[in-house]
Amino acid sequence: MKKLILFLCIIALVMPNSYAQQPKKPNAAEIHESIKKLSFLGSVLYLAAHPDDENTKLISYMANNVKARTAYLSLTRGDGGQNLIGPEIRELLGVIRTEELLAARRTDGGEQFFTRANDFGYSKHPDETLTIWDKDEVLSDVVLAIRNFQPDVIINRFDHRTPGTTHGHHTSSAMLSVEAFNLTNDASKYPYQLKNTSTWQPKRMFLNTSWRFYGSEENFEAADKSKLMEIDTGVFFPSSGLSNTEISALSRSQHKSQGFGNTGTRGSSLEYVELIKGDMPKDPTNIFDGIDTSWNRVKGGKAIGNILAQIEAEYDFKNPSASIPKLVKAYTLIQKLEDTHWKTLKTEDIKNVIAACAGLYMEAAATHNWGTANEAIQLQIEVINRSNALITLESITNPNHVTISKNINLNNNIKFNFKETYTINTDTKITTPYWLTEPNSLGMYTVKDKSLIGKPETPRSQNIIFNLVMQNITIPFTKPIIYKSNDPVKGELYKPFEIVPIVASQLVEPVLIFENDTPKQVAVQVTAGRDQIEGTVSLNTPNGWTISPKTLPVSVAHRGETKTVYFTVMPPKNQSEVQITSTVTVNGTAYNKALIEIDYDHIPFQTVVLPKVSKFVRLDIIKKGENIGYIQGAGDVVPESLRQIGYHVAVINPDDITASNLKRFDAIVIGIRAYNTVEDLAYKQNTLFDYVKQGGNLIVQYNTNRGLKVDTLAPYTLELSRDRVTDEHAEVTFLNPKHELLNTPNTITPEDFKGWTQERGLYFPNKWGKEFTPILGMHDKNETEKSGSLLVAKYGKGYYMYTGLSFFREFPAGVSGAYRLFANMLSIGKENISTQPELHD
Ligand SMILES: [Zn+2]
Repeated sequence: MKKLILFLCIIALVMPNSYAQQPKKPNAAEIHESIKKLSFLGSVLYLAAHPDDENTKLISYMANNVKARTAYLSLTRGDGGQNLIGPEIRELLGVIRTEELLAARRTDGGEQFFTRANDFGYSKHPDETLTIWDKDEVLSDVVLAIRNFQPDVIINRFDHRTPGTTHGHHTSSAMLSVEAFNLTNDASKYPYQLKNTSTWQPKRMFLNTSWRFYGSEENFEAADKSKLMEIDTGVFFPSSGLSNTEISALSRSQHKSQGFGNTGTRGSSLEYVELIKGDMPKDPTNIFDGIDTSWNRVKGGKAIGNILAQIEAEYDFKNPSASIPKLVKAYTLIQKLEDTHWKTLKTEDIKNVIAACAGLYMEAAATHNWGTANEAIQLQIEVINRSNALITLESITNPNHVTISKNINLNNNIKFNFKETYTINTDTKITTPYWLTEPNSLGMYTVKDKSLIGKPETPRSQNIIFNLVMQNITIPFTKPIIYKSNDPVKGELYKPFEIVPIVASQLVEPVLIFENDTPKQVAVQVTAGRDQIEGTVSLNTPNGWTISPKTLPVSVAHRGETKTVYFTVMPPKNQSEVQITSTVTVNGTAYNKALIEIDYDHIPFQTVVLPKVSKFVRLDIIKKGENIGYIQGAGDVVPESLRQIGYHVAVINPDDITASNLKRFDAIVIGIRAYNTVEDLAYKQNTLFDYVKQGGNLIVQYNTNRGLKVDTLAPYTLELSRDRVTDEHAEVTFLNPKHELLNTPNTITPEDFKGWTQERGLYFPNKWGKEFTPILGMHDKNETEKSGSLLVAKYGKGYYMYTGLSFFREFPAGVSGAYRLFANMLSIGKENISTQPELHD
């Protein structure tokens, strides 16, 4: 029992209202802050390259203290990074990071935008970045974001004047921002955008600098500060009981896939911004100095400003609903504005304030979190007014724009529940992330519907409008349809309501390796989008491959249920890499997309529908040795990959690294960053070196030179550097063409370095003892040759190898050459040739 209580306490601690899907329910103090924000008409746009580049202190300060409309434009969705919380990589990681940015903005009060640029991985220089991205397209997206958002002030995270000193995406973000500043007000630039938006000139641009940009605190002290403004972001908000720096830490902590949990601080916290464009504010505390941020900036706004000032002054913290009559008056005046920009924005804001003041709750819940086109959906609708304000539910409007009259007086605290049914339109689009529906290039996402560019998510198409009458004025409140359920541990859970295809399928394995011509079974999962699916499943059959049977029948009774069917795949005799997709045919219609669910507590449930391609690889590979010991580092899938090609791989705990345990292995492989992350390895190096001395092979994969847990990485001199080759196509030269590693048992040719993904390798050593033989040479454009990517040295009877080559990326991508080279590394010095896997204890 004690254990259970402790468990429940831990649950309560780690999940404080983290179910972001739940609707916001502001308290009286928060409503008052929102009323104050209604009277501020100024905007600031923060601009950088990735999820996590943004300074949440500054964003939260601008949104909550200055009360400016504040947004972060992240040029990419962060697809290129690694995922610390689950298996999603690439575009699915981009979906998670998009949602993490949105969760961060819900915390700090900002908004979120993107461009179509794809985070293709590390880039050393903006010249490279802006070639791989379509520079003009990304620039046009930045221009569009500025024209749409109309910022008075833009703050860049990075310096546009220092290319080559940071990630090329970073400098590029600042360079594009500076360039866009001069284009957004020019109607001849990207004129097609002006059908749906207007020209705009931001007043100022700053760089969010810090002493680090100056090399040292001393340099910063001594620097000319005439273009610098100092902002103390450490303000305290009694309305939330939090310091701004505590809010920013909560926001930062939403980047959970990157492990960016952050501890809040209290007290003064200085931020610096350096003027890049426009004039220096005369008031050194106000970045909006000289810009009218009151309602007077809008034609017809003065009267609105006056009413809102009264509402703010008269606000009754014990009875916020007393503000409703004047709020409705202000709402009415806002509807008469000619300025559509502020009219649209402030209409949404004031409706939220009115609903909060009345304690209004409106919800339309479906019976499942999916629907399919042409399907009848039953909705459970709840409406309640929890105030004395006189409110009538006049009607509701369903997603097909059909208005159903209701005329219900919403008396204080009387709940109204009723059911409604509607049929989803036949031509309703699937609600998957819009940037993933078309094939993309390395640098750019393809977005056919130009009206979606810049939006963080696909707009919800299935909404219910509640038409409420207050003070004789009808105000429409739009609510997306949701699905909710109860979890015995977590409580009430919300999911967005999605439109999915009637059936989806995918191969279970993203990559399947055939190390010889033995056939393998492959599993295909078929998921039903609605009840009673009857169809046939098939795979495409590339030349030389045999897949049997041609089709398999499938029948799934219930929506959401998944059935698995199995095909037998016979590979060709020769080396071959092919792409395989699955198709389900129902009533003559072919469905070939996969349905992928992403479920984490800190972001809304995600249903992603996208084409999913698996790779089948027939390897031409010979192996010597068969038992591999693997010591995990920061985490990689190398053990699974080696098992796929027939090795017996045992993962060894650091405690079990003893001479007698290691003896039975033909080779020991050390996982990525093990010497950075596994403390115990400090005491195990001698055992590992002795193992090599006795005839074992030891392969060490990349580590970083910062924070090594061992003094001696290798039995001979070996020093790590930050050398990396990020171009996955970089030419590879054979420094010792006769060396065993390039010839036995597999003959390695330039062909083996084709089709690599993301990069060649990273953190190569740049200094080593004469005992080492460098095997490969390579370099990025305009750089000197790097020869430390694969080093081998004889030590006693065995071999020590150090490699920064990215095997951990190439294996899961099914890159043949990477497997063949690694087989040679495992085989070096071994006698027995094993072509068939044998049973082992
Ligand atoms: Zn970054």
